[in-house]
Amino acid sequence: MKFYSTNSPSLKVDFKEAVFNSFPLDKGLYMPEDIPKLEELFIQNIEKYSLQEIAFEIARTLLTGSIPDTDLRLLIEDAINFPAPIVKLGDNTYVLELFHGPSLAFKDFGARFMSRVMSYYLRQDEKLLDILVATSGDTGGAVALGFLGVPGTRVTILYPEGKVSEIQELQLTTNDQNIRALAVKGTFDDCQALVKQAFTDPELSNTLRLTSANSINIARLIPQTFYYFNAFAQLKREGRSDVVFSVPSGNFGNIAAGLLAWKMGLPVKQFLAATNVNDTVPVFLKTGEFKPKASVQTYSNAMDVGDPSNWIRIMELFKGDINLLKQLVTGYSYTDAQTVDAMDIIGKRYGYVACPHTAIAWMALEDWFKQNPDDVVEGVFLSTAHPCKFPEVIPQEVSSLLTIPEQVTGLKSKQAVYDTIEPDFETFKSFLLAGN
Ligand SMILES: *Cc1c(COP(=O)(O)O)cnc(C)c1O
Repeated sequence: MKFYSTNSPSLKVDFKEAVFNSFPLDKGLYMPEDIPKLEELFIQNIEKYSLQEIAFEIARTLLTGSIPDTDLRLLIEDAINFPAPIVKLGDNTYVLELFHGPSLAFKDFGARFMSRVMSYYLRQDEKLLDILVATSGDTGGAVALGFLGVPGTRVTILYPEGKVSEIQELQLTTNDQNIRALAVKGTFDDCQALVKQAFTDPELSNTLRLTSANSINIARLIPQTFYYFNAFAQLKREGRSDVVFSVPSGNFGNIAAGLLAWKMGLPVKQFLAATNVNDTVPVFLKTGEFKPKASVQTYSNAMDVGDPSNWIRIMELFKGDINLLKQLVTGYSYTDAQTVDAMDIIGKRYGYVACPHTAIAWMALEDWFKQNPDDVVEGVFLSTAHPCKFPEVIPQEVSSLLTIPEQVTGLKSKQAVYDTIEPDFETFKSFLLAGN
C-alpha cells in the first residue's frame, strides 16, 4: 500500500516514509492510495473474532506489503493489549469505553500502535528519533506512555500551560527517561503551530531527525478503525446490527477513522460529529462553509480545536460527494453548561460517570434519537477518556460514583518536571537544538 499527500495526489510514499515524515512537504496529509474493503465473509462472521484478530485483519488489509504478517500480528498483540468493551446503559443506548489503556484515553490506541510501528522500522537505524507532539491534554499522555523507554527515541511534548487537567499534566510531566515536557504560555493552537513550523525549518530538519506524533500521523489513524469494527462485532453478538456512532470530536481523527472503517465495509447507519462550542464542523455540515476559528477553552479541553486538521482527510474520503458526507454525518455542538447537565443526567439515570467529552457524545445521541423517533437503531456513543481525569468538572453528586483506576494511583507522589516557554518559535528551536 502506498500513501499519497492530500495536496498532491501524485506524491506517493510507502508506509514507513508516511509514518516518519507525517507532514509531506506540500503540507498535505497522507492517505492510503486506495481503500480496500475487508472480506465480506469476515464482516459477516465478525462476532466470532476478538479485538486483536479484528485489528490484525484490518491492518493486514490496509498495509499490504508494508509489514510481514507474522511481525504485524506480534506488533498488534503488543500495542492493543487492553479491551474496548461496549456497555449497555439503556434499551438502545451503549457506551463504547475506549479508556482502558495506560493513559486512560482512546488515544492509547493510536499512540501505542504508532510507537511500535516506529520502533519496528527503527531497528536497523541508528540516529535518535525526535518525536514532537502538541497536545491539548490527552495526546501527550498517550504518546509519552506509548514511547516511554522505547530505545532510540526522545519525545518532546508541548502543552498549553494551565489548560490541561491535573492528572493530564502529571501524565505529561512525571515520566523522565526519554520524555520531556514543555508548558507553552498559550493555546493548543500555539503548540500545534510551533510543531508545524519546526517541520518546515531547514536547520532543524538537517540537525535532528524529527517526526510527529500528532493525530495527523497515519499510524495513529489506522488503529482507531479497530474499535469501530469491534463494537459492531459486540453488537452482533447481542443480535443487533443497525448502528449509529456518536463521536466526541476535536481534531476529527477519531471520526475520520470511523468513516475510514465505513469505507472499508463496516455497516454504519449514521455518524454524529459531536463538538463543544468549537463548532467549525457542525457549522460546515449545516451551511457548507468551512470557516476555521480560533479555539475556545472549554471543559472538554481535548476537543478545543477551531481548525481541525483531520477534516481534510474526511473531505478526501468523500471526494466529490459532499452530499453523501452530509447524509452520513450529522453535526451537533454543546456548551459547557449543557455538558455539566449531561454528566449529571447520565449519573442519575444510568449510575454511570461520563467525562465531559463523553457527555457531549451522549447529548448528540439523545438529540439524534429525538429527531429520528421512527428509526430502530443501536446508539453507541464513544467514551474517549476516563472521567477521573477531569475531577474538577464532574458534578459533585455524580463524582461519588467515581472509581480511581490503578493507572492514576501513585501519579501524585511523582515529581513533575517541565520547562515553560513563550509561544515563540526561536525559543522553541533553541530548546530543541540545545545539546545537539
Ligand atoms: C483527543 C480527544 C478527543 C477528540 O478526538 P479527535 O480525534 O481529536 O477528534 C475527544 N475526547 C478526548 C478525551 C480526547 O482525548
